Amino acid sequence: MKAVYFDRHGDSSVLQYGELPTPQPKPDEVLIHLHTAALNRLDLWTRRGWQGLKLEFPHIPGADGAGIVEEVGGLVQSFRGGERVVINPNIGCGRCEFCLAGKDNLCKNWHLLGETRRGTYAEYVVVPERNVYHLPDHLSFEVAAASALVFQTAWHSLITRGQLKPGETVLIVGASGGVNTASIQIAKFAGAKVIVVGSNSEKLARAKEIGADILIDRSIDEAWSKQVYLLTEKRGVDMVVDNVGSTFMQSFRAASKGGRILTVGNTGGAQFEIDNRLIFGKHLTIIGSTMSPQQDFRKVMELIGEGKFKPPIDRVFPLSEAKNAQDYLESGNQFGKIVLEIS
Ligand code: ZN
Repeated sequence: MKAVYFDRHGDSSVLQYGELPTPQPKPDEVLIHLHTAALNRLDLWTRRGWQGLKLEFPHIPGADGAGIVEEVGGLVQSFRGGERVVINPNIGCGRCEFCLAGKDNLCKNWHLLGETRRGTYAEYVVVPERNVYHLPDHLSFEVAAASALVFQTAWHSLITRGQLKPGETVLIVGASGGVNTASIQIAKFAGAKVIVVGSNSEKLARAKEIGADILIDRSIDEAWSKQVYLLTEKRGVDMVVDNVGSTFMQSFRAASKGGRILTVGNTGGAQFEIDNRLIFGKHLTIIGSTMSPQQDFRKVMELIGEGKFKPPIDRVFPLSEAKNAQDYLESGNQFGKIVLEIS
């Protein structure tokens, strides 16, 4: 099969496009002929590598994908060849205490497609049956693939972990990333008022199109927490969605007393300093989460099927140009998702 892969870590020049053997499904797995894959920042980090990450080379990146079932293993019951499907890249073992408690995103033997097993930058991929979801006919492979990782992540964080309520005010730090654009839509759906801090007026205009109520341009004033404070009549916001990390101090200041800070990642780097006095002094709660359990994935895909949410898709590249697609993602100039067209 045609695939994009790398056999050592590094910058995008390590990505190769060529032939690899087509994988075969195990008894509980489904072989999917992919039509579309979508990029995530995770793809860049996996390519660069980190201490402790051990991959079997050649490694195929890519968590998100949608396509048609090609073949199923002997134990698979819910799928057959020819069906349109999207992948849930969050792979739990299905047996440990967390999986049995419906928290497969906390699985003791957790895997993420494209991170610790071969992913979707390829014509074919195998995934466990429980990680496959039937697509309604009207939902395109493109929208499905662009939605899977970011919408489940944002839904689990804002709704399940964050318990966002109608009438609350949410601040989203960053206008354009996949999880943030999903968070804007989900917060509006939940009946919240949404403030977005963005890096330029163009991205903020797009954020407004998908539901943001109040826009703060940090290219005009880096001290955006002060803006938030003034815009909320010196109260602060009930919830801050901060997946940057290095911005935590501003997020703490922007939060109301008793506010919640949600985080699913750290695009600004893993380590940074915080001032503990703001946490206890304001009764702040920091809520971490990663991906989502199966039930949240199904719920959010159902809502996407109903047209409640739609990921903004910035650009589509052919699979053979995955290197250019990753370079574009790394530039940070995109708004929403970058997609690979496979066949
Ligand atoms: Zn498990």
